[in-house]
Amino acid sequence: MKNDMSKFKNIGSVQSKENKDNNDYDELKTEFNSFLINAHDNQQKLDRFEKIEFKLMAAESINDVLLILRDDYLKLFNLDSSSLVLDDHDLSIQKLIPDEFHKKSKKKFLSLFHTPMDLNKLQFLPEKITTGAYQSIKHRWLMYNPEIKSIAILPLIRRGKTIGIFCCGSNDPLRFQVHAGCDFLQRLSFIMAVCIENALNLEILKQSSLMDPLTQVHNRRFFDQRLPEELTRRDRNHAAISCIFLDIDLFKSVNDNYGHGVGDDVLCQVAKRIQTVLRTHDILARYGGEEFVALLPETPNEEALLVAQRIVAAVNKTPVAIGKNVILKISLSAGVSTLMTNDCYEDIQELGRKLLSTADQALYDAKEQGRNRAINAGLLVLSDVAQCSSM
Ligand code: GH3
Ligand code: MG
Ligand code: MG
Repeated sequence: MKNDMSKFKNIGSVQSKENKDNNDYDELKTEFNSFLINAHDNQQKLDRFEKIEFKLMAAESINDVLLILRDDYLKLFNLDSSSLVLDDHDLSIQKLIPDEFHKKSKKKFLSLFHTPMDLNKLQFLPEKITTGAYQSIKHRWLMYNPEIKSIAILPLIRRGKTIGIFCCGSNDPLRFQVHAGCDFLQRLSFIMAVCIENALNLEILKQSSLMDPLTQVHNRRFFDQRLPEELTRRDRNHAAISCIFLDIDLFKSVNDNYGHGVGDDVLCQVAKRIQTVLRTHDILARYGGEEFVALLPETPNEEALLVAQRIVAAVNKTPVAIGKNVILKISLSAGVSTLMTNDCYEDIQELGRKLLSTADQALYDAKEQGRNRAINAGLLVLSDVAQCSSM
């Protein structure tokens, strides 16, 4: 009987050893599985980071970079908010940013800092990535969104200097925890900083080749690029687009009597006066010597004529002062033409040329009729520009 009992005991110990082995095996299996899941998650995370990094590196403009950071990043990482602050101490970035990012709202994506107080805030932020709970009082200057529960703050550093901050936020309080690993974010922040800086530099280069260095308005190349774009814009159905051609009157005599230096100053002041009359989304370019052209989107003909008359008055009303001794009465002449954009035309380039040449002809008429005036060519007659056959 005793033997039998010990036999059972032995069997028991064999079983418990087997159990233990099984338990160990299960534990190992669970550990291995979670290791596999972790590895898989990390691979997916890495893939997402690489995707966004490649996109950033392939971006061709600052507009593309901003859209990637504002929209694609959120979608890809399933986040709820993102924001970008940039150091704009000399207000040079402001001019390079597309209108879409200039919206003044509390929840805006982009903020440009230029006051010493704001710039100080930027420079005193830790250089390392910070993650943790979103605190409105502490973080609202970086990202304003009361629904956000956790935030990651990525300083964007170039050559030891913080050029900006990118923040991303989640409504999930556990998404960005205080001691979360930040290796991927660290690499991303470096790539972001490089891509933002490169895109801004490229924009400066692009803009300088499209600006007139003397008057600081756009040049003819810019205008010739924008004209077909404006004529084909789909969101402007059923709207009119107007063109004003402007030419300073008897400008040769300014040069002849006062020299080219004075002539140059007159050109600059006239450009400024024209610009004060136009709206921000109107396009003004120096088309040649003392000729300017303005494109007025969404502007009916009668309104464009009023704008042209206001420009003529703005240039002629008060004399132009050059230095202390030269005060000149300057005038210019203007020609106006308008096109309805609800029709569809096959040859947009030809359409643009027609809009310009009609305004130019009206300008010629203004000169003929005594200068210092605006003449209206009215709506374009388009019988000689081919319309789309489907329309
Ligand atoms: P109109 O009223 O018929 O337009 O007479 P105008 O004298 O203005 O026209 P014209 O075409 O005879 O002369 C234009 C002058 O503009 C001649 C040229 O030297 C001058 N001009 C063109 N570009 C510049 C420039 O960049 N600087 C200066 N100072 N003068 C320029
Ligand atoms: Mg001329
Ligand atoms: Mg002239």
